[in-house]
Amino acid sequence: MNLLPGESAGNVVVISPHPDDESIGCGGTIRRHVMAGDKVTLLFLTSGEGGGHGRPASETGPLREQEATTAGTLLGVAHIDFWRLPDGKVRSDQTLVFRLAEYLKSIDARAVFVTHEAEAHPDHRAAARLVRRAAGELIEQRIEPPALWGYEVWTPMQEFEYVVDISEQLTVKLEAVRAHKSQCAVMRFDESAQGLARYRGEMHSWPGGDYAEVFQEPPPIRARRAAQGRSVGRQAGGRK
Ligand SMILES: [Zn+2]
Repeated sequence: MNLLPGESAGNVVVISPHPDDESIGCGGTIRRHVMAGDKVTLLFLTSGEGGGHGRPASETGPLREQEATTAGTLLGVAHIDFWRLPDGKVRSDQTLVFRLAEYLKSIDARAVFVTHEAEAHPDHRAAARLVRRAAGELIEQRIEPPALWGYEVWTPMQEFEYVVDISEQLTVKLEAVRAHKSQCAVMRFDESAQGLARYRGEMHSWPGGDYAEVFQEPPPIRARRAAQGRSVGRQAGGRK
């Protein structure tokens, strides 16, 4: 089955290392899946309790969970889970790999979004490895793994296969980013997300929409596909 980000996939899981990554990285595409009738689940690995900027972790975690819930509601997701792993210490260890594999099975996830493998933040890289290893575990169990799509937050990607036009979803994406008030008070993530989406739209979606998000297959999966001589990559939702 050849799925495309932003087009109907069924059960979609968005894995966010911290609250705000999901909206910054793929808020527009999440909205497209919701509008296509997909059941989207947000899974927050940590609650970002280390990002309090002076506020104690005991207050920051619950506050950021509230903000994440508001963002998810704005985007229209069906379900939100918080695993409350320690912020800054996400590891793709075997226990967590099994836990995630079981989780993806229980949801019957057909597509999974996660931060891409070359992100600057170590939790983001660990999340990418965790998802890739969980997909490997499903293959071991002879279960068809979901499509894996990496999104960008801190480190724009140099290589990507998919460009999703989010021009019609930009407003709700930025509302979702701004729902993370405690973070946007410190850095204008809404402005940086809009700027990057505009860049992706102009440079990579042309002559499609003005705003876009881009996604990458995990490099090891891309390499395997290339070795098999199968190509990948297409633009979803480009304006004709
Ligand atoms: Zn993050």
